[in-house]
Amino acid sequence: MIKVMKFGGSSMGSVDALKRTASIIQREPARKAVVVSAMSGVTNSLIACMRDRSDTSTVLEQLRAKYAGCAQVMMSGDLFNTYLKELDASLSMLGDKLKTYQKLDRAPFLEDAISSWGERLSVITLSNILRERHIDAVALSAEEAGIVAEGEPSNGSANLAATHSNLGQTVVPLLENGATPIITGYYGTDARGRPVTFGRGGSDYSSSVVANGVDADCCEIWTDVNGFMTADPREVPNARTIKEMDYSEAAELAYFGAKVLHPRTIEPVRRKGIPLRVKNTFNPEGNGTLIRDQKNNTPEILRSVAAKGDLSIIKIYSSELVYNPGLISRLIASVSEGGVNIYAISTSLSTLAMVLPASAMDDVLARLESLHEGQIEKMTIKNDVSLICCVGDNMINTFGVAAKVFAIVSSSGANVEMISEGASDVALNFMVPSDKAADVVRNIHKTFIGD
Ligand code: ASP
Ligand code: MG
Repeated sequence: MIKVMKFGGSSMGSVDALKRTASIIQREPARKAVVVSAMSGVTNSLIACMRDRSDTSTVLEQLRAKYAGCAQVMMSGDLFNTYLKELDASLSMLGDKLKTYQKLDRAPFLEDAISSWGERLSVITLSNILRERHIDAVALSAEEAGIVAEGEPSNGSANLAATHSNLGQTVVPLLENGATPIITGYYGTDARGRPVTFGRGGSDYSSSVVANGVDADCCEIWTDVNGFMTADPREVPNARTIKEMDYSEAAELAYFGAKVLHPRTIEPVRRKGIPLRVKNTFNPEGNGTLIRDQKNNTPEILRSVAAKGDLSIIKIYSSELVYNPGLISRLIASVSEGGVNIYAISTSLSTLAMVLPASAMDDVLARLESLHEGQIEKMTIKNDVSLICCVGDNMINTFGVAAKVFAIVSSSGANVEMISEGASDVALNFMVPSDKAADVVRNIHKTFIGD
């Protein structure tokens, strides 16, 4: 049995959290590889230091105080001194990178190297804490482990095949020898050896990539909530933890609202049918949420409802749009340029409607205007809309669900601004004005899941 266990920023963020994390690892009888995030707040402070070009010695001192402050309580004198040397060597490399960065105008790869430094400090710290508990922990950076990344800085993807073949030679032999590799989350390195991060929150994805790479039997993500919920508990006080769901349900929920997992976490484990469990470091006895291949074997129709705000709808009018597929593809290409996510698309004879992050709208409009497509007659924008995502693996093929959902929307006093149904087997997505989103979510939850 091989397990991958991932601990996020809050599981690494204080002496109490680190004690819990270390005990969870210590109690785990399986062979295990551990993936870790930076301590909470660290990635933000590294990014802010670059953005504000602030004094590098202040951030270095803060990081030293944060990591060493916890380590001192958890390590004996000799081990702590060895640890401090490792920590200081790593901080001095970070200091050099920050100084270089301040002399440059734009340096996206260096930005990724710097913003992922918290993860490097975390593996040094946690591996020494575990050694204090007589665990044969081995700290590995993503480059030492061989996690291969591709794509743009701050938005990379893992090359799963290359990573699998590397981990077979680095991580798997350690596991076979009974050691516990502690690996940095959040980034991999590209073909030229440059660090490329997987986007904010990317350590979840890293753990799934490592699980795929070592052919794990299970991947556990340890966080600070009990798992996926039937709704956001801040909006719906009676929301419950979901015991089990299918990969596709978790992927939709993570992308469209629930902030439990980095949305890309599902794919690497799904490819190998590795079950993924979300667990709470601060409630380890809880079941958490188990995510695996389990289509249509539960009675629930609607498993969870989430809302995603800060979105806008753009509508592009052109009288014979559907007869001009070249125009549609040019419009979509222009909108998505620069990595803008399109959350939903809908077409009619003469309109193309797309749901986009509100923050991208100015740039998108400027790009569309500069296309000079004679056929665009007008464009309209609707701001302050939220996407409601209803998920359930029996939902789409159960008769009458959509009618019931939309009756609830209407009795909540909300107008449906756009619908996306049928594309996914497990999700029904639609847009409502943001000021009605909380009511819609509460009422759908009440009817399908209960108070
Ligand atoms: N430390 C990184 C972040 O804050 C990655 C992660 O925590 O998953 O985004
Ligand atoms: Mg996270």
